[in-house]
Amino acid sequence: MDFRFSEEDEAFRREVVDFVEAELPWDWRNHEVDSEEPDGLKLVRAFKKKLADKGWLTRAWPREYGGQEASHMQQLIFGVEMSYRGIPVDDGGVSMVGPTIMMSGTEAQKRFFLPKISRAEIDWCQGYSEPDAGSDLASVQTRAVEDGDDFVLNGSKIWNGAHSGAGWMFMLVRTDPDAPKHRGISFLVAEMNVPGVKIERIPCMWGADRSLVTFEGARVPKSGLIGEKNMGWYVGATLLDLERSGANYSARALRLLEDLVDFCKENVRDGRLLSDNPLVRSRLARAAVDIEAARLVAYNVASMQSKGQIPNKEASISKLVGSETLLTVYGLGMQILGMYGQLDPESKWAPLRGRFEKGYMMVGANTVAAGTSEIQRNIIATRGLGLPRG
Ligand SMILES: Cc1cc2nc3c(=O)[nH]c(=O)nc-3n(C[C@H](O)[C@H](O)[C@H](O)COP(=O)(O)OP(=O)(O)OC[C@H]3O[C@@H](n4cnc5c(N)ncnc54)[C@H](O)[C@@H]3O)c2cc1C
Repeated sequence: MDFRFSEEDEAFRREVVDFVEAELPWDWRNHEVDSEEPDGLKLVRAFKKKLADKGWLTRAWPREYGGQEASHMQQLIFGVEMSYRGIPVDDGGVSMVGPTIMMSGTEAQKRFFLPKISRAEIDWCQGYSEPDAGSDLASVQTRAVEDGDDFVLNGSKIWNGAHSGAGWMFMLVRTDPDAPKHRGISFLVAEMNVPGVKIERIPCMWGADRSLVTFEGARVPKSGLIGEKNMGWYVGATLLDLERSGANYSARALRLLEDLVDFCKENVRDGRLLSDNPLVRSRLARAAVDIEAARLVAYNVASMQSKGQIPNKEASISKLVGSETLLTVYGLGMQILGMYGQLDPESKWAPLRGRFEKGYMMVGANTVAAGTSEIQRNIIATRGLGLPRG
């Protein structure tokens, strides 16, 4: 089997890299951007616009909805090059809610939302988790009651990125409290800037925030219902498979490993270069193997998507392997960098501009967000290996 890109795909990859190097409005090697904060968001929005003008955000989508009908592989290549450089261009619009609308939306919804996503005209946040519904997502309690042309929302959504000022939320809501748990849920997209929506920030230890959103009688149009009423669990679960399939983890891990390798080639510990230490060499080599395996697992998912299949256990394997590999690489970095590795990015003594310290504080969250590692293992065990539910 030939794992290399085709000539055409490689040429596209080069074009993307050259464009990013020429046009990105910040120095990605030295600066991380948080697209959920106003300054970062401004930069990311401006750059996203440029990418959208090239048609790259939704390159694999049908032309009628703003795509270029390119292969899924090229969409993947684009995403990988962005993740490698830490460029947060996808807020879920391109990778999650767009494809979901394409699969389950009406023609009118497709024509309204998809071109806007493709042109980077709307921003999204994800309203799945609630204070009492995380892993057990089917327990969502946010109520949506029909009233004329609207749903009236009451309830809370937590851990999302609403503080970014995202104009829209895609969410799971309970439309029939009397139906069995999975049967009374609907999938809704709703504008956030309406009366009755309160957004509160939750600070995280790596310096970023997540949000608690409270709906108190917020009215949102019924035209935002995607798929059938009360069948949203099935719409929303497909979206999760899309969320979990990303190659972003291994791309990010590769970049970190390259930083670490350079650091080891240039820094001396106990009288010899770190790169001459057999233990360090062995651990770096092990990480390189893990990253390559995670990359191939993610590419398998992309290959399934390109054939019109919806990866399920494969997406869980990819999410699990990718996020845990990233966790390992950050941990390895902290060990190699030693005591100085614990310094904040602001300190002049912080090696590699403190990227590992900040990332190490954050990386555990990657094994929680988008479904915890335990949940991914459950899915692999039951749907992948056919083991009975525990
Ligand atoms: C950084 C970050 C960003 C996030 N962003 C979003 C977002 O944008 N939108 C959104 O909707 N949500 C978001 N989340 C929420 C995330 O999806 C949930 O945190 C996650 O699904 C886990 O739910 P929980 O926090 O309620 O933990 P719980 O479900 O209470 O789990 C607690 C622990 O119990 C374990 N556990 C639970 N059930 C089982 C089981 N059946 N078998 C084995 N172990 C189990 C879990 O693995 C975990 O270790 C984000 C979370 C983080 C950390």
